Amino acid sequence: DNDVLLERQQQRESNARSYPRRLPLALVRGHGIYVEDSRGQLYIDALAAAGTLALGHHHPDIQEAIRQTLGSGIPMQTLDLTTPVKDEFIERLFALLPAGLQSNSRVQFCSPCGADAVEAAIKLAKTATGRHNVIAFAGAYHGMTQGTLSLMGNLGPKRHLGTTVPGVQFLPYPHARRCPYGLGAAGVQASLNQLESMLTDPESGVLTPAAIIVEAVQGEAGALPADLEWLRGLRRLTRQHGIALILDEVQAGMGRTGQIFAFQHAGIEPDMIVLSKAIGGGLPLALMVYHQDWDTWQPGAHAGTFRGNQLAMATGQVVMNWLHHNQLHLHAGQMGERLLTRLRQIHSPIIGEVRGRGLMIGVEIVDPEQPQDALGNHPLDGQRARQIQREALTLGLITEVGGRHGSTVRLLPPLIINETEVDAMADILSEAILRAGN
Ligand code: PMP
Repeated sequence: DNDVLLERQQQRESNARSYPRRLPLALVRGHGIYVEDSRGQLYIDALAAAGTLALGHHHPDIQEAIRQTLGSGIPMQTLDLTTPVKDEFIERLFALLPAGLQSNSRVQFCSPCGADAVEAAIKLAKTATGRHNVIAFAGAYHGMTQGTLSLMGNLGPKRHLGTTVPGVQFLPYPHARRCPYGLGAAGVQASLNQLESMLTDPESGVLTPAAIIVEAVQGEAGALPADLEWLRGLRRLTRQHGIALILDEVQAGMGRTGQIFAFQHAGIEPDMIVLSKAIGGGLPLALMVYHQDWDTWQPGAHAGTFRGNQLAMATGQVVMNWLHHNQLHLHAGQMGERLLTRLRQIHSPIIGEVRGRGLMIGVEIVDPEQPQDALGNHPLDGQRARQIQREALTLGLITEVGGRHGSTVRLLPPLIINETEVDAMADILSEAILRAGN
């Protein structure tokens, strides 16, 4: 039963387990947006494998794609050799790209995790520019390999590793409520001015970077949407200085924010796009798409055994078809708006902010008993956020916590969620917040 499974996991799995610490669950079934544990308890799954399951659990189209692919006799793993399944996958992918990238892009399949695709993008930017340093942002999450940890804007997981990959410079990620440059348009402009002076003034002491890597909505940092003008500014400055602009769309891409890619809200086109999670339809897949002008790699420059998973390419196509034919991203945008509106109606002194874009939503929890800072914010309260997560779990909703000190309760439900389910989610979270707030 549940307790035995959890006990055995506790004994035999590494201490680096993360989710089970706060979600004591042994799952036996999944269906749509729901999962069921071994005690028969149902939960709305607003974690959805960290936003991977765009179509929820066991979507009939995904099941059908798996059955058909298995039945076709296609080799299951093909390294990077061509197959009709892969050809079709690339066709679908390119049709989803913004206009300027559709006819002049290349795709690099990667080892099937987001981190490896980020590694590929950084390596390509370095190779193409002959430069070695990179700019990343406070709060950024790009993976857990040593290379991607070097880009992580959070010391936690890398504090004890010594030097990871050198040459990474961090800048603040300007955010509407906590921007060190000041709030609103003035803060955004100040942030861009600082970047510009770093790139143009020799006395800044900063070498021109090979790449700037950014999430258009920071995920692990607590569902922080980037200012769109700021993203446009990054695009302008990177173009002026021949720097690769890499958009990490691992979490925010594939429809989650209401556009197919989260950078499309800003109307920009990056040089490189990193994709994983939802692009595999629930099976492991990762890739990097880049403008062909950057294609300076020698054959074999980014190899990896598991780049040819035909089942993942087949299930990934299902998600892309849902975006292409059914405009799933627009539905996600509407459901996200509804959810944000509902959550903003919760009145509780422990809510610092409700924010997000599309179905990438965070509720930031603060301690109202502690004094406000100069910007009028109470201090963040990770302990209370985790209490809300526990309460929500008891009420039948699985959430994620993230952000600074784990103070943001995050929702990343499947994109197929409907209005009734959105309302149920908001009701549960509301109740959990009220319980934790007393
Ligand atoms: N980039 C972003 C934006 C992510 O959210 C994540 C995973 N949370 C990664 C990269 C790393 O992906 P993976 O865990 O598959 O290596």
